[in-house]
Amino acid sequence: MAVLGIESTAHTASVGIVSDRAEVLGLASDMYRPPAGGIHPREAANHHVELLPGLVRQALDAAHVAPSEIEAVAFAQGPGLGPCLRAGATVARMLALTWEKPLVPVNHCVAHVEIARVLSGLDDPLLLYASGGNTQVIAYGRGRYRVLGETLDIGIGNFLDKLWIGLGGTFPGGPALELEARAGANLHELPYSVHGMDVAFSGMLTAALALHRKGVARPDLALSVESTAYAMLTEITERALAHRRRDSVVLGGGVACNERLRGMVRTMVEERGGTMFAPPRAMCVDNGAMIAWTGRLAFRAGATAAVEDSAVEPRQRTDLVATPWRAE
Ligand code: AMP
Ligand code: MG
Repeated sequence: MAVLGIESTAHTASVGIVSDRAEVLGLASDMYRPPAGGIHPREAANHHVELLPGLVRQALDAAHVAPSEIEAVAFAQGPGLGPCLRAGATVARMLALTWEKPLVPVNHCVAHVEIARVLSGLDDPLLLYASGGNTQVIAYGRGRYRVLGETLDIGIGNFLDKLWIGLGGTFPGGPALELEARAGANLHELPYSVHGMDVAFSGMLTAALALHRKGVARPDLALSVESTAYAMLTEITERALAHRRRDSVVLGGGVACNERLRGMVRTMVEERGGTMFAPPRAMCVDNGAMIAWTGRLAFRAGATAAVEDSAVEPRQRTDLVATPWRAE
């Protein structure tokens, strides 16, 4: 049997269908791209409402699966943008009622961990989750996924996007800065803001924009920003590894597509004698398959919800959700 999962926490609307062995049978996604500036929650939600029904059809067709072969319908309950979450939850509830299948709410951050865990084959890795809105180091402990460290202000991806827009570009900024940085030659000093296992990016944003106004070339700026920001993430990941006595790290989130970040974390982990796993890009970015897979784990552990108890939770914390499928 297969599980269908719906992701709509931010700018991506995605429907995934996975098998019992975590094979991605079908995956259909579409990203809302604002014409200028950052994501407007209501505009993104309108995009999701319009596209999700078609994406459900596409995912079923790609998977060659009939609704009768779907065991449960999972959706991302939070954290995320309220209007976007409600779009996905509404479609999930409708499918569950129409197909008479159980409805399974899933925490988006936990889904990043679970898809990386099953794809890597690592039993108990630490997750560096680096995305647009979220930047967290997460590890399992005593019945929950715990946030060991996180951003104190904006997510790393939002930081990269804001910077790129400030340099005259358009969303998304991360991939554009990665290309730009390849032509960079000179490093400029930027605020390096690590507080224990937490990080902050707004000081670096202000300083980088100031350097830009002083005429520092975009490739050099991109190289300096990537080197500094990813060193910060690598440092807090290493500190969390040491404190938690772990030896393996998996990556998740759109920023985890970045080759420099992957390389820096890999070098750090391997120098400690551990294992680093970066999922394929399609499984790093927000996607319905990770929701479906985590939904399958939750469903098998009995964690379903009645439609009336399935409200979205825009601020749902990783460490507040139960993970009954993980035995101590
Ligand atoms: P997510 O929130 O997980 O969907 O990821 C979206 C974020 O990932 C956006 O902020 C993008 O700018 C960022 N991103 C995507 N690809 C890359 C890349 N290659 N390098 C750095 N950031 C990236
Ligand atoms: Mg995400």
